Amino acid sequence: MRGKILVVEDEPRLAALLRDYLEKAGYEPHCLRDGIEVVPWVREQAPGLILLDLMLPGKDGVEICKEIRSFSGVPIIMVTARVEEIDRLLGLELGADDYICKPFSPREVIARIKAVLRRAVGQISPGIHGLELDKDRYKAILNSRDLDLTAVEFQLLQILASHPGRIFSRRQLMDRIYPDRRVVSDRTIDSHVKKLRRKIAVAAPGEDWVQSVYSVGYKYEAP
Ligand code: CA
Repeated sequence: MRGKILVVEDEPRLAALLRDYLEKAGYEPHCLRDGIEVVPWVREQAPGLILLDLMLPGKDGVEICKEIRSFSGVPIIMVTARVEEIDRLLGLELGADDYICKPFSPREVIARIKAVLRRAVGQISPGIHGLELDKDRYKAILNSRDLDLTAVEFQLLQILASHPGRIFSRRQLMDRIYPDRRVVSDRTIDSHVKKLRRKIAVAAPGEDWVQSVYSVGYKYEAP
């Protein structure tokens, strides 16, 4: 359910504060404090978004994020206690949708949640020309074949495919995939696109779905 939000936070006062604000904002929050409980809960309850603290008893946020991404594309906002942590987390390419640093105002958190959910809704693309994107599982099926994409490759394809013909610069792609930004270089995007195109070429030989636009960026064009 879209409005169901999982708050993973081991500081009881902070968890209670977030729960109050989320309820007031019209969401249906559920709080967990032990890292061990998170993945089974997510599998069973399929929340619309997860606010995930990094330092947790039982299992840390990085491990949890990785595990969730292996089966779900649910929006995840990571919460850290240190700004410097964010760079490291970005480098790990966990596939989180946003990062928030403590201390934060609950109002800021609500605003970020709304922004992430808005983006998530806008990215659903139709199953045309033999391409199907399953956002919840990060699965892309082309001509009935699972492309077996990584989270980043999936996001790239999803962004490009949701605006056929539109050219995206590397910077625009980076900003969408890594909302908290700039630590990744242009070459990172190029190498992800290269792998994505290789996988597409296996499922659809000779068809150029993701095209490189010289010196500008990339675009998606269904054949
Ligand atoms: Ca904590």
